[in-house]
Amino acid sequence: MELPDCFTANINKYFPGEAADFFESLKAKPYCGIRANTLKISPDALCEILGCTLTPVPWCREGFYYNADDFKPAKSPFYHAGLFYIQEPAAMSAVSAFDIKPDDKVLDISAAPGGKTTQIAARLNENGFIVANDVNRQRCGALIKNIEQMGITNAAVLNETPERLRETFAGYFDKILIDAPCSGEGMFRKDPEAVRNYTKYKSERLAAVQKSILFNANHMLKPGGEIMYSTCTFSPVENEMVIGRFLDTHRDYTIVPVADAYGFDNGSITGTARLWPHKHQCEGHFLARLTKGNNDVFVNKQGNNDISSRDKKHNKTGFDTRYFKQFCEDNLNIIWGENNFTCFGEHLYKTHKVLPSLDGLRVLRPGFYLGDIKKDRFSPSHAMAVALAKKDAKHTADFSQDDTDLYRYLRGESFPVPCVDGFCLVCAQGYPVGFGYVQNGRLKNKYPKSFVIN
Ligand code: SAM
Repeated sequence: MELPDCFTANINKYFPGEAADFFESLKAKPYCGIRANTLKISPDALCEILGCTLTPVPWCREGFYYNADDFKPAKSPFYHAGLFYIQEPAAMSAVSAFDIKPDDKVLDISAAPGGKTTQIAARLNENGFIVANDVNRQRCGALIKNIEQMGITNAAVLNETPERLRETFAGYFDKILIDAPCSGEGMFRKDPEAVRNYTKYKSERLAAVQKSILFNANHMLKPGGEIMYSTCTFSPVENEMVIGRFLDTHRDYTIVPVADAYGFDNGSITGTARLWPHKHQCEGHFLARLTKGNNDVFVNKQGNNDISSRDKKHNKTGFDTRYFKQFCEDNLNIIWGENNFTCFGEHLYKTHKVLPSLDGLRVLRPGFYLGDIKKDRFSPSHAMAVALAKKDAKHTADFSQDDTDLYRYLRGESFPVPCVDGFCLVCAQGYPVGFGYVQNGRLKNKYPKSFVIN
């Protein structure tokens, strides 16, 4: 790999003691990781069902290294069932070191494609909630896909700038993750594109963006709340200098040390962490966990917002949940209870009681996408299928992981099944992968076209 001269010069300048070992490590193969989706399966059960050699990632209780010569994770039906997420091991560190509590309201401010969002969501319970935001509309497509594939039901997806989020969410969140846009130096070994995109003054330019994101995040964090700032780059310009500047101007914040607890190097601000490919069996990463003092600087105007008034605003089509309820009665064994439902056009969502009004923001998903209400019927979403457990469905077609019919389903084909007519939840060894619709003993495939495998 041909490294940019300015990058080599910076590593020699800022990290003279690491440089030789670091440059040598870039000749080795990158590490590959997967993370168990504990919303669906325990780490132990995942190892058993995959049946390949998986080695624990020391800093992430759900994370494993795999050998890319032996295991092709994206080809596994259990990947399509959302049992795990493919994630570089260093990228698992930020959420691991963040101490997400089950009831937290969390903002992932630069979330796409959703690796860390899905890790956070797995640590929340039904009271907790995550707002996953990204400024890049195109990247939000992958974010939505990953959130839905993992069966996450307590997330909203927004496509906003941090500036525009500020007003709605003033003093609102318990935790904010800033996985900042960065120069990506830590990905050079894994991703040749990161090397090609690198330019001399990239760090200086990005530092201005990173500072602005941090300053905006401060306005949205509750007193006593926490920010995790992470990058996958080495440059101190994008790491310690950004954090140092923020701490200088926000005296109510302190660093929560994370490096020693996980065996990472300390950054030049003690307690911040540096992950190195020549030391930590992963690519490069930087972490700074910050806690905000408990001065009552902000009072959240919207914290107790009554969702009922809001639903009326979103309910532009005057939707009728009759067909949804009928679908549930005919096909599911669950009762949704006193949930908040809202319609955008024909799309029906379950929203969360704690979320303030999102009026005026670019909202891609106000909550859990249940399906579409069309004229006189309800058509369930793929998101609903993969968020269900097998026992939640009245009619299922469950295939073993080697069954050719399972692969026919994942390829988008139709085929005969011994099932009653109507909706049927297709499962891979007990784990839902999507819906089908059975008519005269033949399964019409409802697997989304954008998901089908070759
Ligand atoms: N957290 C993601 C994950 O774990 O999958 C990766 C995030 S990536 C490192 C950084 C993201 O920041 C990109 O998706 C990019 O679109 C977004 N971004 C770029 N400029 C931004 C800005 N000004 N404010 C917020 N996000 C921004």
